[in-house]
Amino acid sequence: NLPCTIGITLFPKDGKSPQVLLKNADAALRQAFREGVSVRPYSEDLSQVARHRLAIEQGLKQALDDGEFSLNFQPKVNTITGKPIATEVLLRWLNKGKWISPAEFIPISEESGIITEIGEWVLTQACQQWIRWAEQGLNPHPMAVNVSAQQFIQSGFVQRVAQILQQTGMPATKLDLEITEEVASEYPKKVIKTMSKLKQLGIHIVIDDFGTGYSSLSYLSRFPIDTLKIDQSFVSKMENSESDAAIVRMIMSLAKELNLKVIAEGVETEKQRQILVDLGCDYIQGFYFYQPLNSQQYQALLTQQVN
Ligand code: C2E
Ligand code: MG
Ligand code: MG
Repeated sequence: NLPCTIGITLFPKDGKSPQVLLKNADAALRQAFREGVSVRPYSEDLSQVARHRLAIEQGLKQALDDGEFSLNFQPKVNTITGKPIATEVLLRWLNKGKWISPAEFIPISEESGIITEIGEWVLTQACQQWIRWAEQGLNPHPMAVNVSAQQFIQSGFVQRVAQILQQTGMPATKLDLEITEEVASEYPKKVIKTMSKLKQLGIHIVIDDFGTGYSSLSYLSRFPIDTLKIDQSFVSKMENSESDAAIVRMIMSLAKELNLKVIAEGVETEKQRQILVDLGCDYIQGFYFYQPLNSQQYQALLTQQVN
């Protein structure tokens, strides 16, 4: 079963030369991929989208050299006590005085391939930061770094991670890697292999955005993972939607059967926290407890904890 995707341009409406027609057909094709459809006719707004994306893509190439990236840290907490037990590293990009959301630039960096470089930068910085805090006696929590599909399935990824751990001195057991369920379900065999090697190093694996990626259950039981992170779309709707609440309950019992920990993300209210307590969800993350913090803010939190 060969998949096929088509971008369509019409002469003369969408271009008067073969070059322009092909360029626009290509833009339509890329949009088809993003929308997950197999046929996409070109439309005028696509060239605007394409221009915007191109600007971001070019900006990204410069961003590493110009020091425009920084890291934020969002604590994950114990559902009952509210005490931080770990932290997630979230990338931030300040481009010409404007913050650009990772939800916007990460997909573009994946498409352009620059994510590998960015991902290695994030991991290296995160590990270096962790070590600096440890050296200051701040007893930093385990740290979770997001890894994108392209990085995760690249050959040599595990060696690169091992190298970074060695170079920075970061203990593998303090590092979690978050990979989205979508990646895991798209490339299950490759992913199981890579996960197993990472686990051998002592790294913990978290499946991010769980519930959105259609993992087959047979694969799920074979993933050598530690934690499922319930996607925030279910958490935000579970108060008012019985079907979303049912999915959360189902994930909780599935995790129990498979002996996995569960964390819920995007918790914004006391009511959501309470529901998760009742369901036996041990860990949560969300604005209700902490926004993503910059490194000074997070360091202040660590300092407070030690004293
Ligand atoms: P994610 O890994 O699922 O991260 C959770 C996102 O939800 C973060 O958005 C976080 O700021 C936000 N969030 C946390 N608590 C709440 C809440 O209570 N309510 C709401 N509405 N949102 C909350 P952010 O930082 O914009 O990141 C978006 C996505 O970008 C991340 O989703 C992750 O997939 C990706 N990303 C961020 N940093 C990196 C990175 O270093 N590498 C890779 N590959 N992806 C990254
Ligand atoms: Mg994440
Ligand atoms: Mg998520």
